[in-house]
This record gives sequence, structure tokens and C-alpha cells, in this order.
Amino acid sequence: MGLLTNRVERSQIKPGDHIYTYRAIFAYSHHGIFVGGCKVVHFTPDRRNDEEFSNQSILLSSCPTFPDCGFKQRKSGVKISCLDCFLKNGSLHVFKYGVSNSVFIAQVRGGTCTTAPSDAPRSVIHRSMYLLQNGYRNYDVFSNNCEDFALYCKTGLLTLDRIGVGKSGQASSVVGALVSSPVQFFMPSFIGVATVTIGMYCMSRYANDIGVRSDVIKVAVEDLAVNLGWVSHEETNFSI
Ligand SMILES: [Zn+2]
Repeated sequence: MGLLTNRVERSQIKPGDHIYTYRAIFAYSHHGIFVGGCKVVHFTPDRRNDEEFSNQSILLSSCPTFPDCGFKQRKSGVKISCLDCFLKNGSLHVFKYGVSNSVFIAQVRGGTCTTAPSDAPRSVIHRSMYLLQNGYRNYDVFSNNCEDFALYCKTGLLTLDRIGVGKSGQASSVVGALVSSPVQFFMPSFIGVATVTIGMYCMSRYANDIGVRSDVIKVAVEDLAVNLGWVSHEETNFSI
């Protein structure tokens, strides 16, 4: 499996797919979740216009096709865009899930696949739309990284160091919640991670792959939001 074999045509992608495109002549890739209807939910740290709409819930769209393209909550990095605006004339690729270890290691370039399996499209779309609706603020849970955001939407998995231990008081409350929850058995590895890898993002892709690491936990998107103080408990009393 080579570098370009993840490339697909628009007709080939399905709602719930993790898609990406290369920007600036392969210098970096931008990732998002295709949610159907020509729309992509993606994370971008661009918050330039937040001051301009302090009393509004949406930004005015500059998209020539969809008036709601570019919608995001105030101070949130999660945005919904049409496929054209997401791709910006770039090529379309699908991120692969559940690949074998040998395929993963054979990748020329990181950020194209993972050994972790994807959840069902319905769950993937729910996570992305929930974070779009409730806002994903300026926290370091995903390291402000569009790929981490898409990986979380696809799998519900977060690595414990990404939860932001030692980075913010709000994020630390997640750890408190985890200690008192059934995931206590993860804590021994968590302590090692906390002391060694905070701030060390650039390890080998394989060692960091969420399908390989032992220090990953499944976090429901509603729990994630509540524990980080994004929404109140009352707001989450609904079922899907
Ligand atoms: Zn658009």
C-alpha cells in the first residue's frame, strides 16, 4: 500500500468516513469527518473572528454554495464546511482503520491509517455533530490537531496524556473522574505516561498509534464535554 492508494473520488466516500486532503504541496494534511450532504466536520484552531460575533452564534459564510458553510460555535475550533471548502481544490483521501501492523509500519508517511478499528458511522457522526453543536474550546485534549479530532470521532479513544494532565485545571478534572470510574486499572500506565511523555508529541507513529498504545481509554463524547466543563449536566440529559 503506497502513499497515494488512499486517494478516492467523491462518489466513493460515505457518511462517517475520516477524510483528509494535503495542503501546501504535501507539507501537511487536513483531516475531517464526512457527515453526508456534502458536509465535513473538522477541527481548525482558527479563532480569528471570535471577537466579531460575540453576540452571534454563527459566522457569516464566504462560501459561494452553502450559506451555512463554515458554521461553528463561538470560541470553538470545530467547524462544518462543504466538501469544496474543505478540500480547497486538494485531492481527497480516506483515512484507513483497522489496518494490520505490517501495513501500518509500511506506510511511507504517517497520518494515513491506524490499527484501531472504527466505530459504526452513526457513532462517528454523533460525536462530530455533538462537538460541533456544543463547542470544542481551546483545550489541549486533541493537541489542537485536526487529525486527533477525527481519530477521536472515529474511535472514541483518547490517550491519557492527550487528556491534558498538568495542562489545565479543567482537564485535570477528567483524571479525577477517571480515577473514580471503572477504568482505574489503566492508572499504572497512566502514571508512567504522565511523568514521561507530557509535551513529547513527536514519537514514532507506531508507538503512538491508538490501536497499539495501552494507555488509551474510550470516552463518551457527552462525558468528555461534561468533565471538561464545556456543558452543564442538565444540557446533556437527552438520549439519541
Ligand atoms: Zn463551502
